[in-house]
Amino acid sequence: MSLDIVGDDLKVTLPDGETRPFAHLDYAASAPCVEAAAQAVADLLPRYGSVHRGTGVRSQASTLAYELARDVVSEFVGAGPDDEVIFTRNTTDALNLLARALPAGTTTIVFDGEHHANLLPWPNQVRLPAPSSVAEAIAAVEQALESTTGTVLLTVTGASNVTGEVWPIKELAGLAHRHGARIAVDAAQLAPHRPINDLGADYVAFSGHKLYAPFGAGVLAGRRDWLDAADPYLCGGGASAAVGDRPGELEWATGPARHEGGTPNLLGAVAIAAVCEALTRADRDVLHEREQELLARLRAGIATIPGVTEVSLFGPDHPRVGIVSLAFTTDDPADVALRLGRDHGIGVRAGQFCAHPLVRRLTGSGVTGECGVTPGLLRISFGLGSTTEHVDRVLDGLRNS
Ligand code: PMP
Repeated sequence: MSLDIVGDDLKVTLPDGETRPFAHLDYAASAPCVEAAAQAVADLLPRYGSVHRGTGVRSQASTLAYELARDVVSEFVGAGPDDEVIFTRNTTDALNLLARALPAGTTTIVFDGEHHANLLPWPNQVRLPAPSSVAEAIAAVEQALESTTGTVLLTVTGASNVTGEVWPIKELAGLAHRHGARIAVDAAQLAPHRPINDLGADYVAFSGHKLYAPFGAGVLAGRRDWLDAADPYLCGGGASAAVGDRPGELEWATGPARHEGGTPNLLGAVAIAAVCEALTRADRDVLHEREQELLARLRAGIATIPGVTEVSLFGPDHPRVGIVSLAFTTDDPADVALRLGRDHGIGVRAGQFCAHPLVRRLTGSGVTGECGVTPGLLRISFGLGSTTEHVDRVLDGLRNS
């Protein structure tokens, strides 16, 4: 159950002919796979069969593996007896599923600083401007909750994919619950860095490919009542318990099957569960400390480079996961990212990171509320395979590119 990165020996040849180990500093986009996930997939490859469909030994073993994976994820998210875990394709899929499962007329409260996956799916939105402080965030949510009646869902990110800042989920969950509302957390960026089993949220969503598992599987976990009352997300086999001869004569399944129509992604689910298990067993305080040391080293270095500034909503001292985005006075972030790749063997990402309103706000480009053009930012993000050499190399690259 190792958390060692698979393929950490990837090498790149630079224009001067030198060969260097590739430095992946783009974990926030997709994290490389860890051995625990790769091993779980390799173990199952020779013997998989169809989940919940068949009496043969392959099918039975696969059904067992799939449901065991669900149990492991259930523990990872701290699910209670009224919750269920649904395997999805990714976070986007999970949040869209929840958006479709909301009781009719639900009001949703969402900040415009969200990733588009947690901004666009929600119906009947009260959209709040991205706050400048935690106090402002809480006051804005409180005001929105006070002026809203009926069923309400607040949906927030656990950690920003742009600034890495950790959102005050426990406070917001308490606030939502005091007002009789529910809260969903987009944990795509939080889950790889911090435990998510005690957030106090009603729903959490995350993606396997950001959590050191391969692509194609994600999770929505949360309270069963809305999910069981909603129309199935994907109509078809598995989601239907009984189907009559005439249209509309049918009984939908309840539980996770209701929203997992079609043959499920067994290998994806098993890979996610393997990582969840490995992370649960690991000393996450130690992992956190290591990451914070790298972050501090990077940020201290950036502060010495002219023309480069890190961006934040809540200020430089606010806790964050291993993500830093940079604005440039003159350079185009896309050019810098290309040069870091070509000349230094470093993978980062430049652009707007599917968070256009937030990046416009952070770069001071365009008017909030309009679709404006911005050169965007350059994002550096860490994970389990990141080292001080990677940090020093990216700092060197930023100074010399
Ligand atoms: N939310 C956040 C905070 C993200 O960073 C991302 C991915 N960049 C998503 C949601 C969407 O994840 P996916 O593309 O895996 O659906």
